[in-house]
Amino acid sequence: MLGLMQDWPLLCHRIIDHAAIHHAERPVISRSIEGPIHKTNYGQIRKRALRVAQRLDRDGIKLGDRVATLAWNSWRHLECWYGILGLGAIYHTVNPRLFPDQISWIINHAEDRVMMTDLTFLPCLESLADKLPSIERYVVLTDSAHMPATKLKNAVAYEDWIAEADGDFAWKTFDENTAAGMCYTSGTTGNPKGVVYSHRSNVLHSMTASFADAMDCSSRDVVMPVVPMFHANCWGLALTAPMQGAALVMPGCKMDGASIYELLNDYRVTFTAAVPTVWLMLLQYLESTGSKLPYLERVVIGGSACPRAMTQKFEDHYGVRVIHAWGMTEMSPLGSLCTLKPEYADLQGDAKLDLLQKQGHPPFGVEMKITDDNGKELPWDGKTFGRLKVRGASVTKSYYKGDGGDILDDQGFFDTGDVATMDRYGYMQITDRAKDVIKSGGEWISSIDIENLAVGHPKVAEAAVIGIRHPKWDERPLLVIVMKKGEKASKKDILDFMAGKIAKWWMPDDVAFVDEIPHTATGKIQKMALRDIFKDYVLPTTEAAE
Ligand code: AMP
Repeated sequence: MLGLMQDWPLLCHRIIDHAAIHHAERPVISRSIEGPIHKTNYGQIRKRALRVAQRLDRDGIKLGDRVATLAWNSWRHLECWYGILGLGAIYHTVNPRLFPDQISWIINHAEDRVMMTDLTFLPCLESLADKLPSIERYVVLTDSAHMPATKLKNAVAYEDWIAEADGDFAWKTFDENTAAGMCYTSGTTGNPKGVVYSHRSNVLHSMTASFADAMDCSSRDVVMPVVPMFHANCWGLALTAPMQGAALVMPGCKMDGASIYELLNDYRVTFTAAVPTVWLMLLQYLESTGSKLPYLERVVIGGSACPRAMTQKFEDHYGVRVIHAWGMTEMSPLGSLCTLKPEYADLQGDAKLDLLQKQGHPPFGVEMKITDDNGKELPWDGKTFGRLKVRGASVTKSYYKGDGGDILDDQGFFDTGDVATMDRYGYMQITDRAKDVIKSGGEWISSIDIENLAVGHPKVAEAAVIGIRHPKWDERPLLVIVMKKGEKASKKDILDFMAGKIAKWWMPDDVAFVDEIPHTATGKIQKMALRDIFKDYVLPTTEAAE
């Protein structure tokens, strides 16, 4: 017997309908690319999104067509997402931090028909245009006053383009499993792979993100996604905030400490999210100016491991709750968040900081297991490392066009490529990417743990640990360090600071100081590039072993 409830497909544009009906006046504030602060609200966003849909429809864009966006977080980008979604087309967020060749590769692979772009990226697109045959029109997210002369095909200023539509248009309705959005993984090996979200997976993911034990998002929040809309589906926030009727603050292209602080303070942001690099810049700004964060209640930190020192600064110094989160493009992206279950709610001081180092527990909708290389499940004892595998309503089952082949195990779990422990209460802690694990004497050393410890040194800005070949142990850790501006320390200073805080055999065999550590387009340390730089490095412990 089937249930007798209504068939109400989970469609993303229903989110902006809900926001426009129940939270119409809620502000959406953006730092525009042209410079000034722009203010609108959900009622207006919906009206203009309908014009986007109507205008795309008139250009012949249909269900399933891909529309690329190459843009920072702004009200116009948000309107584009909902307009594209409401037509049944697919928003394809392109990461502008990729190399130009990768940008053209993914646009061609996705066969995007329209490109919606910020002014910032016109020079890049002009240099690539000859290689982008599928793009029929470039819509520049600006008004006619700021529209530069360009030879891009059918280029038009967004404001002029939507002015040609009156918004008298009805959203399309279709199956909830229809594709909604697309985002390519910034894989370090091989070509990027396309992850295709559905309306259903996006709606369920946004609901999950709002849970009290996830991001705890409500209509009383002012949410600032510093994480760009082109990074892993904006961690769901472009859908979650309107779904809950939370006000939105969009930072545009300025993510330096001063600019972020200005928005946090002027618009009384209660909740924000980004990768550790962004928070490093903010904390340095706060320290140098003596500023405080009187309105900010919580900050989601993910994308790479949140250093302990960062959690401590936010929590103890600024009274901001840190929610350490883990996820990936393939998971829409939320996989786990570190909020306190009753078993841990009374933790204080170092014990609490230790727990907040973990990437947390999965919300309803995500299942996890850790296995050995043969797929055998490993115990949840907080110590045993294994390959982290996931299954759930917003987890990918294959890549676009079948690239990468069959990616699920026989129980339907996806191998994340991360290595992790799980504790008895289901808290997961990432120890490494599988390919970055350091194998010393047959045992695994967690590079993330060592990195987190090293950045706790007051003079260290950034740290990365890689394995260097060793005649006796196979591999031993080398700690690579970037010092804070104007600071100096010796190898001994750094190692003395770390001694006694990790197992002796995990201690790096050497420390190398560099000016810069290479990063990927999503701000992660590029271990492969680093290993390449240090490929001929000889550890001081090598000779003794030979
Ligand atoms: P992306 O798809 O670009 O978001 O990258 C996903 C990958 O980033 C994951 O598989 C992890 O390796 C890494 N990652 C994300 N969040 C964290 C975190 N909190 N701690 C450690 N690694 C993380």
